[in-house]
Amino acid sequence: MDKLAILGGTPVRNQNLAYGKQSIDEEDIERVVRVLKGDYLTTGPYVKEFEEKVAKYVGAKYAVAVANGTAALHMACFAAGISKGDEVIVSPITFVASANCVLYCGGTPVFADIDPVTYNIDPKEIEKKITEKTKAIIAVDFTGQAVDLDEIRKIANKHKLFVIEDAAHALGSEYKGKKVGCLADMTAFSFHPVKPITTAEGGMITTNNKELYEKMMIFRSHGVTRDSSLLKQSDGPWYYEQLELGYNYRITDVQCALGSSQIEKIDDFIRRRRQIVSRYNQAFQNLKEITTPFEAAYSNSGCHIYVIRIKPKLLNATREDIFRALKAENVGVNVHYIPVYLHPYYRELGYSVGLCPNAERLYDEIITLPLFPKMTDQDIVDVINAVKKVIDYYSKVRC
Ligand SMILES: *Cc1c(COP(=O)(O)O)cnc(C)c1O
Repeated sequence: MDKLAILGGTPVRNQNLAYGKQSIDEEDIERVVRVLKGDYLTTGPYVKEFEEKVAKYVGAKYAVAVANGTAALHMACFAAGISKGDEVIVSPITFVASANCVLYCGGTPVFADIDPVTYNIDPKEIEKKITEKTKAIIAVDFTGQAVDLDEIRKIANKHKLFVIEDAAHALGSEYKGKKVGCLADMTAFSFHPVKPITTAEGGMITTNNKELYEKMMIFRSHGVTRDSSLLKQSDGPWYYEQLELGYNYRITDVQCALGSSQIEKIDDFIRRRRQIVSRYNQAFQNLKEITTPFEAAYSNSGCHIYVIRIKPKLLNATREDIFRALKAENVGVNVHYIPVYLHPYYRELGYSVGLCPNAERLYDEIITLPLFPKMTDQDIVDVINAVKKVIDYYSKVRC
């Protein structure tokens, strides 16, 4: 192969490829336009329709759609009753949202290290972090691979904890043959454009618990209700009451019309994602210098992101060198994630390096490759060729 683009050679691609991206078709657009021409722009019939479709798809009784995935997690923490003095066990290898939501409620995030093989929070590490103050576990289905819910449930039952699943990566993923979304006490989804389906911004909680559902419905809209069975009194037909300190976390009907159209396509999206992953896995199986993703026997992943892990001992390069070289080949790489507690805000709160060694080691060695349903077969070949070209160049074990 020719010289690396970073050294002045010709790049594998002449145009940048994103690492993740939405799939919107004409039908999606038509449904959105129909709402714009109708009577409701925000809370209207499509919110309910979208909630019902997602609940049915994942096999949950209730769903509450909100403005974004972070609002969904915040709402779940509120419904779980997280408040000052409470500890919530969270994963370090994720986006900052899940730990932040504990802080929003006045609680303390307690980071439990990941399993070095699945990269998900390790149930054994959860157990070690439990104290008298622990109230909940927020477990993230990293890359779309479900966390080991049976093990986490056992721990939660023993210590009377809520299980909140952050399934921002995992709509359509399965755990032991069941869809993610019907197994935890509350499961949070995100519909940001890079996620399994999109509403531009958007999020949802699914649950089988009526009491939690009712708390979330109130929280979504300022803590206000018109439900006569919940009112303390009634001054007349105009009357409503604020019962909790809620937020305006409502999602619009415009967005839910898009979501309602997108959810019908989720299985097609996942089929394509899995196909791309299997091509990557096959192409990289003989590259000794990298580790490809591991899928546990209990998991059937929706394959949200594809994370490779470099083996520094077999390479004359750091992760940064490889990342920069792939970028120069016009492959849209990314890193998921910086351990949450290493961000300056968390360090100010007293968290420090060394807290979760497996997470920190992983962070030093990972690169996310492009993966989204609209990738063409040529895009897949380009990514494979770029990875092989860069790894070959920096390999210590080949020439
Ligand atoms: C995207 C994401 C979120 C936040 O979702 P938003 O809709 O962007 O607020 C939370 N957790 C994880 C793991 C995510 O990937």
